[in-house]
Amino acid sequence: MEDCIFCKIIRGEIPCAKLYEDAQVLCFLDINPINPGHALVITKKHYPTLFEVPTEELKACVATAQKVAKAICKATGAPGLNLLQNNHRSAGQLIEHVHFHVIPRLPQDGFLTSWSGKPYPANQLQQSLEKIRAEL
Ligand code: 5GP
Ligand code: ZN
Repeated sequence: MEDCIFCKIIRGEIPCAKLYEDAQVLCFLDINPINPGHALVITKKHYPTLFEVPTEELKACVATAQKVAKAICKATGAPGLNLLQNNHRSAGQLIEHVHFHVIPRLPQDGFLTSWSGKPYPANQLQQSLEKIRAEL
């Protein structure tokens, strides 16, 4: 993918602060972190979102995220961590190359402290359950 920023990083055309790489994935520090140590795990091949990634590469991403998460928490002393993965604009995805955010969390850092979940209206839970199960 010629114009994809993350593909350019993989090809070495844009520098990155690399934490880890293997045959399937690359992990580097996010240039604009929520907290210091915020890292991104990306597939070496270009897939736009979670939906296109083959299972083996997805497993490699999650295994790398776990490995790096442990190191980030030890190194930064962060008491918490979020693993975050955005798909499509409506979910906040800006770079259309699949990636996992590994975000060390500090008390009172102001990021994602809560969200406003709404209870299901009557019968909606069962309807949602059945519709989704039918797609599996
Ligand atoms: P998204 O909103 O797509 O889930 O997140 C994209 C992330 O990529 C953002 O957190 C942003 O700071 C990061 N990012 C964008 N461009 C670059 C870059 O050139 N280098 C690095 N290291 N991170 C980038
Ligand atoms: Zn790409």
